Amino acid sequence: MAVLPEQVIYMDNNATTRIAPEVVDAMMPYLTQFYGNPSSMYTFGGQVGQALNKARQEIADLLGAEPGEIVFTSCGTESDSTAILSALQTNPGKNHLVTTKVEHPAVKNLCDNLESFTGRKHHVTRLPVAADGTLDLQRFKESLTDDTAIVSVMWANNETGVLFPVEEMAEIARERGILFHTDAVQAVGKIPIKLKETAIDFLSLSGHKLHAPKGVGVLYVRKGTPYIPFMNGGHQEHGRRGGTENVASIVGLGRACALAAEKMAEENTRVRALRDKLEQGLLGTIPKSLLNGHSSQRLPNTANISFEYVEGEAILLHMNQHNICASSGSACTSGSLEPSHVLRAMGVPFTAAHGSIRFSLSIYNTEQEVDFVLATLPGIIAKLRALSPFWEGN
Ligand SMILES: *Cc1c(COP(=O)(O)O)cnc(C)c1O
Repeated sequence: MAVLPEQVIYMDNNATTRIAPEVVDAMMPYLTQFYGNPSSMYTFGGQVGQALNKARQEIADLLGAEPGEIVFTSCGTESDSTAILSALQTNPGKNHLVTTKVEHPAVKNLCDNLESFTGRKHHVTRLPVAADGTLDLQRFKESLTDDTAIVSVMWANNETGVLFPVEEMAEIARERGILFHTDAVQAVGKIPIKLKETAIDFLSLSGHKLHAPKGVGVLYVRKGTPYIPFMNGGHQEHGRRGGTENVASIVGLGRACALAAEKMAEENTRVRALRDKLEQGLLGTIPKSLLNGHSSQRLPNTANISFEYVEGEAILLHMNQHNICASSGSACTSGSLEPSHVLRAMGVPFTAAHGSIRFSLSIYNTEQEVDFVLATLPGIIAKLRALSPFWEGN
C-alpha cells in the first residue's frame, strides 16, 4: 500500500526534496494555459520566453551571477558532463584532469570512463581526503601541471555535507590558466554563493535538490570562458544547449531559487539547530556511534553517523517500519556489502562504514520529527546489535 507524504518523516533531502507548494503554483500556468514555444515569433510564444528570462534572473540572483551566464540543462549530471567535456574540447592539447576521491558518481564515473575508454590519453588525479573528509590545499597545488585542462571539485559532499574551499582552489587554478568547475548541487540554496567574486568558471546545480522538480538543472558558464555545447541542436540558450526548454520546470526552478534566497537564514539557524539536536542526541545516547565528516566545515542540514557493528541497510529497513526516510553509506552491490567510496576515502573503519546512516534535513522538518527519531533509533540499534555476532555489549 502506498505511503502518503503526511505519514512520512522525510530526512533524505540530499537524495531529493519535496517540491515547494509555491513552486507548483508558479509552474501550473505553464503546464496548462501557456503552452507556446518560447522561441516562436508571436506573443503567445514570446510571453513564455519572458517567463524563462525571469527564471534566469532569479537563478542568477541566488548565485551572484549574470542572467547571461545561466544555461538550462536537464539535470545536475548533464551540467557536470557538459562542463568537463567542454573543457577537454576547448583545450585540445591538454589531457589531465584533477578531481577528488569523493565526488558524486556524475563526476566520478565520467572521469573514470574518460581515463579508461576514450581514444585520447586522458589521465586523472583524484585528490585524497583526510579522516574528517577535508582536502589538503598544498596537495591540490602540487597536482596541477601544464597538461591540466580542468579541475572539477564539488562544493559540498552529498554523503557527509563536508564543504571544500572551492573559491580558494579556483583562484589557484586561474593563476595557472586552468579552468575550474564545481558540482554545487548540494551547496546551492544552503550556503551563500557570490560567483561574481570568485574565479569559478563552471558551476552545476540541480532543481530537485532545492525544492524544484526533477529533470531540470543549470550550468553556470562564466562570461568569457571558452565553451563548447554538449547537446547540439536548435539555437536555444543562444546555441549553448540545443533542445526545447523544459519551460514549466525552469519557471519552477526560478521560483525555488527565489525562495531559497528567502529561506537561507532559516536553513542556517532553525534547520541547523534541528540537525545539531538530532546529531548530538544520537551520538550522546547510542554507544559506539560516531560522526563522519568535519564537525563545522559542513552543510547545515546533513549528519552522517556510523553505528558500529550493525548494517546500515538493516537500520534503514527498521526505520522504514516507522516511515522514517534516510540513506545508508553502504549499498548491497552484487551480493557484497561495499561501503561507499566516500567513507572509504576517509578511511572510516570497516565496522563503522557498514553502519553509516545519512540524515539530511530541510525547512519542512519539525522538532517533533527529530524527537520521534531520537526516541525510536536507539531501540532499533540495540535490537540489531543483540543479533550481531560481533557486538559484545558496551
Ligand atoms: C544529486 C546530485 C547530482 C546529480 O543531479 P541530478 O539532477 O540528479 O542528475 C550531482 N552531484 C551531486 C553532488 C548531487 O547530490
